[in-house]
Amino acid sequence: MNDGDLRLDGNAAGGLLNEIFPFEMTAAEATCGGCGTMRLIGELMLYRHGMGSILRCAGCDTVLIRITHIRGCYRLDFSGMSCLQIATDIH
Ligand SMILES: [Zn+2]
Repeated sequence: MNDGDLRLDGNAAGGLLNEIFPFEMTAAEATCGGCGTMRLIGELMLYRHGMGSILRCAGCDTVLIRITHIRGCYRLDFSGMSCLQIATDIH
């Protein structure tokens, strides 16, 4: 399978993120733990596969967010991100 077939703009994760967070998460800013670049979540690259979704840095490809939904439970792994900034006016 070609990874390019599954890759989407991070804004495509908006619906999934809205199921979890009560605000527009694609407007939050993530700092990459790999290259240190700060980008909007909506500017990350989304990869969807059977186990869940992965958002990667558009610059260095580091995995910033992993989201799985198993047995009625969301599991989020933010370990690739050094900082998540959420403005108070993006609700
Ligand atoms: Zn990066």
